[in-house]
Amino acid sequence: MAEKEFDILIIGGGVIGTAIARNLAKLNLKTALIEKEAELAFGTTKANSGIVHAGFHSEPGSLKATLCVKGCNMFPGVCEELDVPFKENGILMVATSKEELPALQGFYEKGLLNGVRDLMLLNRSQILEMEPNLSEKVIAGLFAPHGGIVSPFELAIYQGNNAEQNGVQIFLESPVDNVVNHRDYLEVFTSKDTFKAKLVINCAGLFADDVARFVGDKSFDIKPRKGEEYLLDKRVGNLVTSTIFPLPSKNSKGILVIPTAHGNLMLGPTALEMEEREDFTTTQKGLDVIYNSTETLVNGFSKRDIIASFAGVRAASDRGDFVIEFSKFAPRMLHVAGIESPGLTASPAIGEMVLEMVKGWYKENNIKIEANPNFNPRLPKRIRLHDITDKRLEEAIKKDKRYAHVICRCELVSEAEIIEAIKNGARTLDGIKLRTRAGMGRCQGGFCTPKILQIMSRELNIPVSKITKRGGNSVLVPYKSKELI
Ligand SMILES: Cc1cc2nc3c(=O)[nH]c(=O)nc-3n(C[C@H](O)[C@H](O)[C@H](O)COP(=O)(O)OP(=O)(O)OC[C@H]3O[C@@H](n4cnc5c(N)ncnc54)[C@H](O)[C@@H]3O)c2cc1C
Repeated sequence: MAEKEFDILIIGGGVIGTAIARNLAKLNLKTALIEKEAELAFGTTKANSGIVHAGFHSEPGSLKATLCVKGCNMFPGVCEELDVPFKENGILMVATSKEELPALQGFYEKGLLNGVRDLMLLNRSQILEMEPNLSEKVIAGLFAPHGGIVSPFELAIYQGNNAEQNGVQIFLESPVDNVVNHRDYLEVFTSKDTFKAKLVINCAGLFADDVARFVGDKSFDIKPRKGEEYLLDKRVGNLVTSTIFPLPSKNSKGILVIPTAHGNLMLGPTALEMEEREDFTTTQKGLDVIYNSTETLVNGFSKRDIIASFAGVRAASDRGDFVIEFSKFAPRMLHVAGIESPGLTASPAIGEMVLEMVKGWYKENNIKIEANPNFNPRLPKRIRLHDITDKRLEEAIKKDKRYAHVICRCELVSEAEIIEAIKNGARTLDGIKLRTRAGMGRCQGGFCTPKILQIMSRELNIPVSKITKRGGNSVLVPYKSKELI
């Protein structure tokens, strides 16, 4: 097996690895990203709350605080460049008893110290003017108007696409199973290939400590913390505009009512420390905790509005902050680890920070690097049937009739969008779902899955029996079906 040689290798294709890949594409270096799953964004990036935090939660001076505030300010620009759904809907933390008022004031002051813009304390009548469906218990609030909501998986996928368009190579289904530290390079082994690189950036999320251990680095541990989330039908999507937070608990920001970037409401997440890193089960206990907590914040929804549940696992580090540093054991490895919440928010700022660290490393080592003169930060605007004007739709249909063929009725997704997703790299049913939302609505794919499988089979020229939900052994039709082939 021939060794593949790169200047920089990124391990992990979540929102952090792809943000870094996109930033490093600004340099004239040979860069690659290696991901163990079948597609980008299949780790924690696909299972979170999608909130762009304002930055009043984290301790002043911490990396979490600095990068969260900077990242939040960068979101409108990045999402515009990549055409990713993002909305500056604001964040509202509410107090439901007099005892909570000093803590609310504390978060206001912390926010000011962290540099959060336009923070304001509100009384009950001011809150009700903004959010009439909040519960009777709410007495005061802290409002951060520039907090937002984003489609986290689309952000990671399109950052990856943009990095690729600018020259970064992406290797999927390639779990890194060893890294060997040499004086002048690092050698990275996967089940398929062996790589050689001047620098390796460890963005392996829940497994970042395992990757560090490959080079004998035990300087941090990942302490997994699971969070369950419950997605509600769009029927109740307009109950609140802002993301509603309670006062936080010791180990989480509390259980929230979250409008999503696609018009649903979401409730969650729980916070459960555990040993298992890939336990994505949801539980009756989790649902009860979430429902009982959020019921006291917002009126107007019931358990019957729940259309889906999922769990994500936070890759918290034992240091309590993000770990963004060169390894002391293998100085060619740069860790970007422990990226728990607000990691999604901080991701654009982390991308920029790592770019500067890489430039610094090259300078220290007297290796000249140049900018990539062809770097283009933009991706073409995509057509989305569910939020397109009639005029643009008519134009689109004139160019391609398949925009008139609706495949997912709940989320209004056309055949042309599914084909576009395949052209953009989708190879699994979940890959189609994350890019287009087909299957994310009320029926959860009950009606559209067979049609999507047929389109994938035709476009990718593979039998339906080979199409997986999320790679590996997750085939959906493990037999030859006459109707579908
Ligand atoms: C329930 C929950 C809610 C959250 N809500 C928010 C929020 O609202 N706002 C916010 O800012 N943050 C939130 N977060 C945090 C946010 O989701 C994370 O900070 C972010 O997704 C981390 O991205 P990542 O790229 O580091 O990790 P990941 O997305 O997990 O990416 C790491 C990647 O590395 C790959 N990998 C691992 N090991 C290997 C290997 N050996 N070889 C190759 N590849 C490997 C994995 O497959 C994975 O794709 C939340 C987290 C959870 C769990």
